[in-house]
Order: sequence, then C-alpha cells, then structure tokens
Amino acid sequence: MTDSRKKKGKVVILSGPSGVGKSTICKEIIRRLDRVHLSVSMTTRPKSATEVDGRDYWFVSKKEFQERIDKGLLLEHAKVFGHFYGTPKDKVIESLQEGKIVILEIDVQGAIQAKAVFPDAIMIFILPPSAKTLAERLNHRGRDSADAAEIRLNGASDEIAAAWQHYKHMVINEDLQQAVNECVQIITNKKSDASV
Ligand code: 5GP
Repeated sequence: MTDSRKKKGKVVILSGPSGVGKSTICKEIIRRLDRVHLSVSMTTRPKSATEVDGRDYWFVSKKEFQERIDKGLLLEHAKVFGHFYGTPKDKVIESLQEGKIVILEIDVQGAIQAKAVFPDAIMIFILPPSAKTLAERLNHRGRDSADAAEIRLNGASDEIAAAWQHYKHMVINEDLQQAVNECVQIITNKKSDASV
C-alpha cells in the first residue's frame, strides 16, 4: 500500500445498552471535536416517527440488507433485538483516508468484528449509573413499546457482561457533560491508559 492510500484517521467504537445515551454523547463529541464522521448504519428495523432515512439510519428491507452482505459492502453486521444492523464500508474507508475520526455506534457483536478489521480502534463502552436509571431512561424516551423496552432492558446485563472482556474504556453516563469529557479525553488521548 502506498503512503497516500494508508489510512490516517482513527476509528472509535462506541457501544452501550439501549437508553444509556450513546446517540446524545456522539452528538456532543461531534460538537466538541473537528473532523469527526459518525457512521450512519444500515438497518432492517422499522423507522420510528422521529427518525430520518439517511440521517439516523439507512432503513432497508431484509433482501437489500442481505444483498449488501453478499457484495461485501458491510464492514460488520449483527442481529440485535430481532433486526439486522450493519456498517457500510465505503464511507468509513473514505473518511479514514481523509484523516477523520470515525465513530461507529454499534453493538458488542459488531464491535468485535470491527476491532478485527481495525485493531487500533478505540473501544468505549457507556454504562448507566444503575439498572434502575437505565429502566427509567428507556421507559421515558418513548420510542419503544413496553414489550420492546423490556426486551432491550433484559439484553442490557448480557451486553454489559460481554463488554468487560472487550472494551478498554468504560464510561459511566451519570452526568452527560462529564461522560462526554471523558470520551473526548480518551479519543484525543489525553487520558493515560493507566488511569482507565
Ligand atoms: P436502535 O434500534 O436502538 O437504534 O439500536 C439497537 C442496537 O443496535 C444498539 O445497541 C446499537 O448500538 C446497535 N447498532 C446500531 N447500528 C449498528 C450497526 O451498524 N452494527 C451493529 N452491529 N450494531 C448497531
């Protein structure tokens, strides 16, 4: 690979249970740092009333999703809460070649795959301050039905248990600004690994 084709940016993998505040943290990171690209995932999950195709996700059918997998166009993909989610490869590669910080907001299964592709990826897992707080946040965000919220809550403890094995950085989102500060420090390497 010639120098000009070498990837210059960095990959940040950010995960956490549903309702923990990942999307809000990502938006704040984008506000605080220059040259950040937040990858827009593809999903077979139905679009909620407040979501916009191409902004929040690329909403596609199962057939279209499978075609992307078959053509090797996804960097990673996983089935989460009964729906498929995946990261389109092209924009990630393009942004890395432009020297950008690329954030992948994905689940633990996908994170393990992405880490295999980008071994230097910075792995951040967002934790809720308590199980009770997570349940309250999930119920109050109003996006999911009661059943869907319960499925997501039940999945949280398994995801958190798996995260301890795979993520170097665990950040508790009790206070949003403090959690964002920690993420920014980790991404910009101002926090030494010894203090994590
Ligand atoms: P939601 O339906 O709440 O937007 O997302 C459900 C879960 O899917 C979250 O844990 C989210 O991080 C994860 N997710 C979103 N996009 C992707 C993706 O491209 N790949 C993988 N593996 N997980 C994703």
